[in-house]
Amino acid sequence: RESWASDSSDSVISSGSDSDSNLYKVILLGEHGVGKTSLARIFGGVEDCADAEEAGNTYDRSIIVDGEEASLVVFDIWEQDDSQWLQNHCMKMGDAYIIVYSVTDKVSFEKASELRIQLRRARQTEDIPIILVGNKSDLVRSREVSVDEGRACAVVFDCKFIETSAALHHNVKDLFEGIVRQIRLRKDSKED
Ligand code: GDP
Repeated sequence: RESWASDSSDSVISSGSDSDSNLYKVILLGEHGVGKTSLARIFGGVEDCADAEEAGNTYDRSIIVDGEEASLVVFDIWEQDDSQWLQNHCMKMGDAYIIVYSVTDKVSFEKASELRIQLRRARQTEDIPIILVGNKSDLVRSREVSVDEGRACAVVFDCKFIETSAALHHNVKDLFEGIVRQIRLRKDSKED
């Protein structure tokens, strides 16, 4: 069982840092029930809190990736209410996006493609980092979307791909580190 918390005590420097040019806004997108909140709570280190029912939250945390600190603010607000305004805002405000589907739910996989298209439309000229996430990889027997299908979708949509299990904490750390690396790659190529 991979735990973000167990090996990261020295990599968590602060929470709530602001006025930091290395502060990145990461937005979670995806159908209801795919595991957005579970992933965000693992990132935030608050997964065991009792009030898991509350909808919509943000989690900020600094992590060390490749020896350098980065502060992420992860927004789990996509489903907070049905307002078109909020969803439009989500599409515009992110420095990076995590589009989540459940490998046990083909409909959520199709929805992920729609979200990618929506995002492309909203941010046409920008090359924003996106990671497509197939969550619930632990549910082997109810899998409806194969790893290859996920990977192929990411190729078509020109984004990164990872399968995770929030339940087992599998690949969750890699996911958020991957986001930081993607953001940095684009920043570096702009500065050149
Ligand atoms: P959200 O609606 O996208 O925020 O999804 P939630 O994080 O609320 O998760 C929906 C349900 O799926 C909850 O009952 C979670 O415990 C469960 N869940 C989330 N991730 C996983 C996972 O990786 N594996 C399994 N087996 N269940 C998960």
